[in-house]
Amino acid sequence: MNLGRYIRRTAGHQPDAEAVVCGPTRLTYAELDDHSDRLAAALRGRGLGRGDRVATLAANRAELVVTEVALYKAGLTRAPINARLGATEVAHLLRESEARVLLTEAAHLETARAAVPGTGVRTVVGYDGPSDLGPGYAQILAEAEGRGGAEGEAPVDVECEEDDAAVLHFTSGSTGKLKAAVQTYGNRLTLLRKSVMSADTRIGPGCRQILAGPVTHASGMPLMGIFFAGGCAIVLPRWDPEEFLATVERERATHAFVVPTMVNTVLALPGARDHDLSSLRQLIYGAAPMSPRRIREAWDLFGPVLSQGYGCGETTSGVLFLSTEDHRRAIEGEDEELLLSCGRPLAEADVRIVDEAGAPVADGEVGEIVVRGPDVVPGYHNEPELTAESFRDGWFHTGDLARRRSDGYVFIVDRKKDMIISGGFNIYAVEVESVLHQHPAVFEAAVVGVPDERWGEAVKAVVVPRAGAVLDEAGLIDYCAEHLARMKKPRSVDVVGALPHNPNGKIDRRAIRERYWAGTERR
Ligand code: AMP
Repeated sequence: MNLGRYIRRTAGHQPDAEAVVCGPTRLTYAELDDHSDRLAAALRGRGLGRGDRVATLAANRAELVVTEVALYKAGLTRAPINARLGATEVAHLLRESEARVLLTEAAHLETARAAVPGTGVRTVVGYDGPSDLGPGYAQILAEAEGRGGAEGEAPVDVECEEDDAAVLHFTSGSTGKLKAAVQTYGNRLTLLRKSVMSADTRIGPGCRQILAGPVTHASGMPLMGIFFAGGCAIVLPRWDPEEFLATVERERATHAFVVPTMVNTVLALPGARDHDLSSLRQLIYGAAPMSPRRIREAWDLFGPVLSQGYGCGETTSGVLFLSTEDHRRAIEGEDEELLLSCGRPLAEADVRIVDEAGAPVADGEVGEIVVRGPDVVPGYHNEPELTAESFRDGWFHTGDLARRRSDGYVFIVDRKKDMIISGGFNIYAVEVESVLHQHPAVFEAAVVGVPDERWGEAVKAVVVPRAGAVLDEAGLIDYCAEHLARMKKPRSVDVVGALPHNPNGKIDRRAIRERYWAGTERR
């Protein structure tokens, strides 16, 4: 197999169609195919062969997409490093991934300069041009002029096995140790198949999909499906809610993929309704929960186009899906509870809710979500113990606690690690947060357990008020007491200007928790 072949075939069918748009850069299929052929040839020319690792350190840009395709063509393994990480973390990931080449950009050269020494990286390619560290991207593409097969040499097309590593997917670290899930070529192929074959995700010819988050991470999931189907990937260089709406309008985007925090910032814009968003056929959100109140507001703004995905790096793609029709049924009052669900299993994924011993729990009971299927990764890179702990009897243990309704809809209750144990009761941070998010003065909220002499842990709400709103802390606690069992209400509220987010845009509860537990021995 070779994933790059799909691009080559689409480019043959429609060479002049737009494949990638990112800021001022626009690439046709012919250009995407040619540039990736040349990059693949240049990397091969530097002695890299099947299974060798290539790291990237850059914010969203068109060349990152070309790089992904080139690595597929050359049978190499991609190790994307989030552009927001510092030099120490970058050095660690370069060592862990044993990368031989790093592609980076001007804004991160200083980080690269500090991180590369002592790692296995021999070549640093600068997307913006040559540097003291190595050649420029344009330069190495120029070296490989004509290597795309147009004149002379056949393009690079390395045969891969399904279990070859395609991506070392470093998880963001919000859940503990930084580790890499090994996504195989077979896993990535399943992802591609799912995005084009599932009626729910509705990617097809003519689709113009906005990818709003880091395209090297979850936001890049739809890329190969888009190219397989002959659509266009509109990659946002950075997140800016106003620019997102302007892009939908200007590019006549049909699909978009966002995280809840992004939706929040769009909803907070006073001029959001001034844009023509009528081209949108689907807005997929996911990666973190979104409150029913915000879902209703988003439905009101974007129209009947919302759907939700649930998945994680270890499952390569989404494994649970709440369709637009599910949203409609909830919003029109037929089944309001669905707004708290993250959907039902997507084709090909086996999803169960199990107890500590791994046995399925009864419908309605809380247990851990476990997943099995062709998109579940074989394990973590160089982490046999962690792999044995998380992948048991073929099932990946997600660490998410959930219950299932008898009709198959799954409701996440909390992450195992975010559960607060106060006076012997299990309190789910997500449940308290969802009540806080219903309050009109709350923009964003996180709930954590903090040390408490009497209860062991006490529920603490850390809240960002909406612009212009005044938050009365005692009033907010009373509001929670009205909507929750008494022991679940926050014992205290801290009002802050902003919450920490991890590089993928999720609220970083661990960082918040650490502020309160610093100096204590637990957590
Ligand atoms: P990551 O591997 O960093 O993408 O994180 C995966 C985790 O994000 C999952 O285990 C869930 O805890 C959370 N997550 C992903 N999608 C959703 C969703 N739709 N609703 C709630 N939580 C989600």
